[in-house]
Amino acid sequence: MTYAAHDFAPDAVAPSTGHYIGGTYRAADEASIEVTRPSDGRVYGAVPEAGEAGVDAAVASAVTAASESGWARCAPRDRARVMRRWADLIDTDQRLTEIECVGSTRPIGQACAQDIPFTAEAIRFFAEYADKDGGDLTATRADSLGFVAAEPFGVIGAITPWNFPLSMASWKCGPALAAGNAMVIKPSELTPFSTLRMAELAVEAGIPAGIFNVVQGTGATTGAALVRHPDVGKISFTGSNATGQRIMADAGGAGVKPVTLELGGKSPQLVFADVPDFEHVAQCVVRGFTANGGQACISGTRLIVHERLAQPLVERIVEIVSKMKPGPTWAATTDYCPIIGRAQADKIETLVAQAKQAGAEVLTGGSRFADGPGGLFYRPTVLANVTDDMAVVAHEVFGPVLTVQTFRDEAEGIARADHPHYGLAAGVHTRDIGQAMRAMRGIQAGTIWINRYGRSRDLAIPTGGYKGSGIGKDLGRQAFEACQRYKSVLMDFEA
Ligand code: NAD
Repeated sequence: MTYAAHDFAPDAVAPSTGHYIGGTYRAADEASIEVTRPSDGRVYGAVPEAGEAGVDAAVASAVTAASESGWARCAPRDRARVMRRWADLIDTDQRLTEIECVGSTRPIGQACAQDIPFTAEAIRFFAEYADKDGGDLTATRADSLGFVAAEPFGVIGAITPWNFPLSMASWKCGPALAAGNAMVIKPSELTPFSTLRMAELAVEAGIPAGIFNVVQGTGATTGAALVRHPDVGKISFTGSNATGQRIMADAGGAGVKPVTLELGGKSPQLVFADVPDFEHVAQCVVRGFTANGGQACISGTRLIVHERLAQPLVERIVEIVSKMKPGPTWAATTDYCPIIGRAQADKIETLVAQAKQAGAEVLTGGSRFADGPGGLFYRPTVLANVTDDMAVVAHEVFGPVLTVQTFRDEAEGIARADHPHYGLAAGVHTRDIGQAMRAMRGIQAGTIWINRYGRSRDLAIPTGGYKGSGIGKDLGRQAFEACQRYKSVLMDFEA
């Protein structure tokens, strides 16, 4: 089991670095990228950047391991057993947890309670699929046999974002490995180290060397080379909408290969006047836009509230968030985390400033913490008097910024909640089941939460976007199936 959260000394955490290929670190003489701790802005390491040659070496290692290690051909239950052992190592590895927290926005308390157990659980969850879906027998004439055989792609390339480095990696590698694929994964250059530790633990657990490879580098160089590589059969990506569009074009340009794209959102919390529990709704809205400093794809950043409830609800939200205190990710008591880097903090400030200039009213926040612990901490911010054409309403901010809009009747509320371009998730709060179901039908989003906001530990529930928020699903049976190809077989014989 995961151990209790503890304070740790950031300078004592010295992650291994490099590309992890074929079960070892490859010396790399490529240009190196400095990596910064968001909690105090200090550089604490560097990674090399793989160009086409480095990516080719990792893919070649995966191709060889896929054909020679027996990973694809072994009894699927044997893959499952090794993956469960890997999950157990992840669950109890203190070094992994500290590496995850020191350079990301994830405070150690939340990593111990959520990220680490979720990561391990996602791997166990997909391990269970390994021997439970081999394809289908189909109905045919009596003198023939038709079946659909499930087969791995061979090598799957995964590209992950910085906001939940380990969880996002587990959502990619859990289904890919359980289905018998080898992998090359490129973590974000902002949070590159914990995926390396994950790879070390994979080999320790018995996953053959070369089945799980990690390459480092920027998206434009390393990520693009991975997408374009001819021996990569599928790309599974999580990140921004702009990058997703680029990857889709690159994957098409490199010959046809499937892509799973988990992209950003601009998710509403639609609050009707008849909510069952006012305080619960206030807490849901607060968590929805402040968790991970608002740096979550599913952040519920648009409050769409019935005009009768607007004033008391917004007052309560402001009261709760005004008391939030930031802290470094290595302190066990920290709840409110930093912004990942300067560029992201600047983007948040620009969008809020533009909104203010266009007439938005700042009810709380609207600036960095003056007395932050040295990193980039932005105050939870609530904006009223906003309009749909303001960038802060129309686009993902990826920071702790909530906009407030009101409505008078159900149709208006649902129409406002349904964003024209994004469709990742939505929260609906009402005690009226009919109203909840009409909102569920009316909002075009991949996930609808009713009288709650945020994922549960039910990993069988897939996640993924409608519209510009993506293609395909992570988690759930759907994610496992998307890591397989299906071969149709029809055989005639004498009846
Ligand atoms: P990003 O798109 O900037 O980068 C994501 C990854 O893509 C990184 O590893 C990056 O190096 C790589 N990349 C960048 N350009 C590339 C290119 N041309 N080719 C190949 N790879 C490239 O996103 P980010 O800032 O790291 O992450 C935040 C974004 O991720 C937000 O938009 C957030 O909503 C989204 N996200 C979505 C989900 C989901 O499940 N839908 C989950 C987490 C984050």
